[in-house]
Formats: sequence, C-alpha cells, structure tokens
Amino acid sequence: MVDQELRDKYEVVIGLEVHAQLKTKSKIFAPDKNEFGQEPNTLTSPITLGMPGVLPVLNKEAVNMGILTGLALNCEIPARCKFDRKQYFYPDLPKGYQISQYDEPICVNGHIEINGKRIGITRAHLEEDAGKLVHAGADGLAGSSYSLVDLNRAGTPLLEIVSEPDMRSSEEARNYMEELRNIVRYIGVCDGNLEEGSMRCDANISIMPKGSKEFGTRAEIKNVNSFSALQRAIEYEIDRQIEIVEEGGQVVQETRLWDDNARETKSMRGKEDAHDYRYFPEPDLMPLEISREWVQRIKDSMPELPSQKRERYKSLGLSEYDANVIVEQMGLALFFDKVLELGATPKIAVNFIMGEIAAYLKEDHIEITDTKLTPENLAELISLIEKGTISNNIGKQIIIEMLKDGTKASVIVEKKGLSQITDEGAIKELVQKVVDAHPSEVEAYKNGKTNLLGFFVGQVMKETKGRANPKTVNQLLKEIIG
Ligand code: ADP
Ligand code: MG
Repeated sequence: MVDQELRDKYEVVIGLEVHAQLKTKSKIFAPDKNEFGQEPNTLTSPITLGMPGVLPVLNKEAVNMGILTGLALNCEIPARCKFDRKQYFYPDLPKGYQISQYDEPICVNGHIEINGKRIGITRAHLEEDAGKLVHAGADGLAGSSYSLVDLNRAGTPLLEIVSEPDMRSSEEARNYMEELRNIVRYIGVCDGNLEEGSMRCDANISIMPKGSKEFGTRAEIKNVNSFSALQRAIEYEIDRQIEIVEEGGQVVQETRLWDDNARETKSMRGKEDAHDYRYFPEPDLMPLEISREWVQRIKDSMPELPSQKRERYKSLGLSEYDANVIVEQMGLALFFDKVLELGATPKIAVNFIMGEIAAYLKEDHIEITDTKLTPENLAELISLIEKGTISNNIGKQIIIEMLKDGTKASVIVEKKGLSQITDEGAIKELVQKVVDAHPSEVEAYKNGKTNLLGFFVGQVMKETKGRANPKTVNQLLKEIIG
C-alpha cells in the first residue's frame, strides 16, 4: 500500500471501455437466437460457425439499439458508418476475425455528466461477441488437459462504449460505470449485469506527476465483474504503478487481469496496437447509411433517462439522496412512477418506499416485483392515510402484510378494525383516563417537564393500538393538563 503523501504526488488518469450486450432477439449477423443459458452449441447456424461461403446480414434491431444508446450518451450519429474485420486467432472465434467497427463507428463525440462533471465519450461501435471457453476444472473436468468451446455467445451483438481519459479517481470511474449501467437499463438495450457478463468493463489506468500535462503509459485491466471490484482493481493498479515509478522503473503498456480473490492484477499479455489486428473493411457488408429521419424517429422514442428521472423526482420534493437511491434501483423507480400515476402524494409514497418497503426487500434480497404489493394497493393505502381513515403509523404496520399477501389496505383495516379514532369525545375520555392514572407525571409536567407530553401521547396510543388521531390527542392533552 502506498501512503497518502506519496499518492498526492501523482495524478491518476482513467478511461473505460465498456461492452454492453444488446438485448436483441437474434444475433447481429446471423438468425440464431440471442439467448443466455441454452444447451451449449445449440445457437450455432453456419454463419455463427464461420463456415465457408456464408454471408453476414446486419440485424436492424442491433443498429436501432446502437443509435438509441448513442443518443442517450449525447453522441453524434454520423450519416455513414461501416464494419471492419479485426483479425486474431483464438478457439472461441471460428472465423479467425471479429466483425467490428474501426474508423467509422456508429456513435461519436458524446458525453455524460457525473456529479456535474462531464466525462467524454469518444465513440461507441457495434461488434460481435466471441464464444466462450469452458476450461478444465469446471463441469467436473478437474485434471483434464483440455478446454471446451461453446459458441452460443459467438455473434451476439455488443456495443463497445469508449470513454475519453477524463476520470481522475476510482470513485469517479465507478460512478461513471454505474450511470452507464443505469442508462442502458432504462432505455432497455442491455441487462447491465456485471456479474453475468452482460456488461463488461476494461479499465485503462495511468499515472503522471501532479501538474504534468503529459499522460503516462497506461495498463489495461480486464476481468472486473462488479462495481466494487472495479474500484478495488483501480486502487491496486494505482499503487502498483506508483511503486514502479518511485523505484525508478517504467510502467509498460500491457493488458492485466484482475483477480478479485487475491486482490491483485496479473500481467496477461503485452498490449496489441491497432496495426497488430490488421483491420480492413468488411467486404461482405455494405457501409451503412443512417438517414436523419431514422435518427429522429429513434430520438422521438427515447424513454426518460435516469438523469431526467432524478430531476423530476427532486422537483416533486424528494431529497437528492432519495432520488438517487430510487433511480439506482430501476424496479423501485418504475413502481414509484406507477404509484404516482395513480395520483398518490409523492412524499408519502417515497416514505413507504425508502422505509418499510426498502427494508423488507433488503432483508430478503428480493426485488419489488418479487413481492405481492401492487402499485394500486400502495396508492390505495396512501389515499386511506390522506383521507384520515387510518393513521400513518397503522399504514406502516399493515404494509408488511400487503407485501407478503397482496391484501388490499382497506380489507386489512376493515378486518382488524384499524380505522382511526377521530371522534373528539371518545379521545377525550381516553386522555382523561391516562391523565388520572399518572398523577405524579402530571405534577412533573406542570413543574416544567414538558417533554413528558410524548409519554402521555404514547399511553393514549397504547390504549387505542395506535388508532387515535395523533393531532387530536396532542391538542386535548395540552388542554387537559396544560
Ligand atoms: P484499445 O482498444 O487499444 O484499448 P481504445 O482507443 O479502444 O484502445 O481505448 C483506449 C482507452 O484508454 C480509452 O478509454 C481511453 O480513454 C483510455 N486511455 C488512453 N490513454 C490513456 C492513458 N494514458 N491513461 C489512461 N487511460 C487512457
Ligand atoms: Mg482496450
């Protein structure tokens, strides 16, 4: 570990390359289904297998998703883009090359904003994924000396989103990655699941002396499978590079693998330069012309983006913190929006969602859609509170039953007799009873211990199992003992 003083001598530069697996129905150049978890090698047409004589056909849905993502990332969509072959040899790549986009990508010159800072997006390009190797050791193959190839993933569409080297800390990189994940999920183009690999991130990291204008040599870190791993890997890599430089050495440009168990990066291979891949235009695909009308149509279909959602929530009176937490969990945000559409008061709805509901979900590690609570039922509960039929406290008591069983609030209230006591005469009687039962507390209250009011309110509430209208109780107590 490098100490803070040493750290402060250096500036960290980070750029991320993020691969998002697009949720198209079929593969990007072949008719095979784009599905996860099928029997190995069942989604493998001759095109996917790279048989001689087959031709790729571009999937329009993948292009639409690429444009949609580009627009969400404030990119320009050039009127023309094209595909190129990137050659390399590996058993999970049957053709011996990957169809990608080199010098004319589908999206260029974008940015997103992270806590008020703009992070540039150099480009985003479409490409096909490779297959998967299952190495010995998995599937009971321990001790065997071979690996198995599964080509189901080969040819599934990816959008590679390349950032400018604009990030200056592991935290900034993490925030950028989280926001990118939110965006692709909200616009519906990608699951954004880092653990399952539907979203993957390569982190490019370099250091330079503070104040320097010239970037240092970068190392590229692969194999980070969670947001926390990304942050840990970057922190480790910063320290590693500082130690090398402090000892008079030089950072070499290379690809390193993050091992989250060992908590370290290991050299994997020297980094190829673009010319090593022998890129050339894909002769089997025409350049793609994207009309402005096409782009406009997609722009018009853009759903609300996470940043816009946050702003809207804040304008409804939510705190910045609440708005962030809800947007971060898409299931909750979509649920919240439905409750709002049904006319519920935002503040009461958000208190339930951030309070009892969030705690319940956290305890069982589940999503709101795994519960029996419907937006309609939460909206009804809120309207009962607003009408004064039940108190807020009773609402908090019955929400758990609603989550578990899907029972309507009005049904629970009816069955258990939970409606609020608002009748002044009835409450007055109870207040008097409580006051009579606690003469010494009344004495103390009169002598200035006014915070005992809470004690009396509590006693009345206990008598009524929380059903008395708290405002009336307070008022009557003050009248009787004050
Ligand atoms: P490659 O495919 O060779 O890795 P790309 O251009 O696709 O090249 O990606 C380069 C990534 O590295 C970009 O995200 C860029 O911002 C980042 N990057 C470039 N130079 C540096 C540097 N000196 N330090 C950190 N990141 C850098
Ligand atoms: Mg790279």
